[in-house]
Amino acid sequence: MRLVIIGAGFAGMYAALSAARLRDVQGVSPEELEIALVAPEPTLVVRPRLYEQKPETLTAPLLDVFKAIDVVYVQGSAETVDTKSRAVHIASLDGAKKLSYDRLVVATGSKLFRPNIPGLAEHGFAVDSIDDAVALDKHLHGLARRPALNGRDTVVVAGGGFTGIEAATEMPARLREILGKNAKPRVVIIERNPAIAPDMGDEARPVIEAALRKLGVETLLGTGVASLDASGVTLSSGEHIEAETVVWAAGIRAAPLTQQIPAERDNFGRLLVDRDLRVPGVAGVFATGDAARAACDDDGNYALMSCQHATRMGAFAGNNAAAELLGVPTKPYHQKGYVTCLDLGEAGALFTTGWERKVAMVDDVAKKTKREINTVWIYPPKAERAAALASADPPHVSDVSGFL
Ligand SMILES: Cc1cc2nc3c(=O)[nH]c(=O)nc-3n(C[C@H](O)[C@H](O)[C@H](O)COP(=O)(O)OP(=O)(O)OC[C@H]3O[C@@H](n4cnc5c(N)ncnc54)[C@H](O)[C@@H]3O)c2cc1C
Repeated sequence: MRLVIIGAGFAGMYAALSAARLRDVQGVSPEELEIALVAPEPTLVVRPRLYEQKPETLTAPLLDVFKAIDVVYVQGSAETVDTKSRAVHIASLDGAKKLSYDRLVVATGSKLFRPNIPGLAEHGFAVDSIDDAVALDKHLHGLARRPALNGRDTVVVAGGGFTGIEAATEMPARLREILGKNAKPRVVIIERNPAIAPDMGDEARPVIEAALRKLGVETLLGTGVASLDASGVTLSSGEHIEAETVVWAAGIRAAPLTQQIPAERDNFGRLLVDRDLRVPGVAGVFATGDAARAACDDDGNYALMSCQHATRMGAFAGNNAAAELLGVPTKPYHQKGYVTCLDLGEAGALFTTGWERKVAMVDDVAKKTKREINTVWIYPPKAERAAALASADPPHVSDVSGFL
């Protein structure tokens, strides 16, 4: 029997760990149940940190973890999934491969959505993938070699959601470090909605607004980016802002592989899944993390495209796919608690609890928690078999109930 997982992000990593855990608990050997994980690299890209400096350091190796838990790593990118014959076709560095499966977990994550705005592809930067973040960092360092004219010291961030706010609030300190402590960087967030952080709610938003004021980050609300060129951005209002750096952070979509699964998807391209994270109507296929839209409780809340949800959904999907093959009961995915921890650069951070986003911590206290999340909690477990397997018992993964 073979369980194939596609993707080595937060969801894929925990799908592999939890499937291997259940196999171990059931006393089944890796020969009887093979768990294979397909990804271009055996590396976790720590996406939640990609707005930081030194982005090239923001990955964590997974090969030794996989070896320790007897998960077979298959290098490559899944190009097509044939759900009728239950096979994945993979493009890899050593040619095309075909991997048949008894159960499949689609954990292919998400990608920044770049709309067809004139100039965006040529002039827009991003903090979505490691390549995006490294290109932005290289560009920012390159600014120091140019004259301080026109828009050199101006950064426009398109999108005032969580990613845009984290990128923008980090930018003044990042630019001063590159351009010199006397530099006076200008950072502007463009947000289509009439309020910054549209999802944040009225209790938490003032904390963000105060942080932006403190850092001198400007906001232009109720307007969108109409076009980009080498000199900067033109807004839908007709206003032009000279800026040598424009960071696009205005929305993500599920990675394209979800389109290969003949099933219903939401507006973000996520596969609709049942409580076991199975894709209804497609035999043997589960979806998880940013690739899936799952109910996380009985109160009408759905998992967000977040690391917090992806990690736990991964653990349930891997467990359940293995459970079906091992003939043991599945565990319905549930995630009652929800917290948000938003980095606000030199203005600290904001920690909220619950779907209504009640403010629980601000300033340095929240910043300490954000550092802990970003440098410890979201990293893979050590490559030690017992500890790694123990870390993946689904009900205990990404359990934030201690904060609620
Ligand atoms: C700048 C930034 C800040 C963020 N901040 C936060 C935060 O503070 N808190 C939070 O909870 N979340 C945050 N997020 C969101 C979080 O990073 C994602 O929700 C999370 O990465 C989703 O995990 P995933 O495993 O579903 O997908 P991903 O992490 O996207 O991983 C997908 C994996 O699938 C692989 N893959 C894709 N297609 C294929 C294919 N065809 N074949 C093989 N492999 C494939 C990829 O290479 C990758 O290994 C942030 C994201 C960004 C970009």
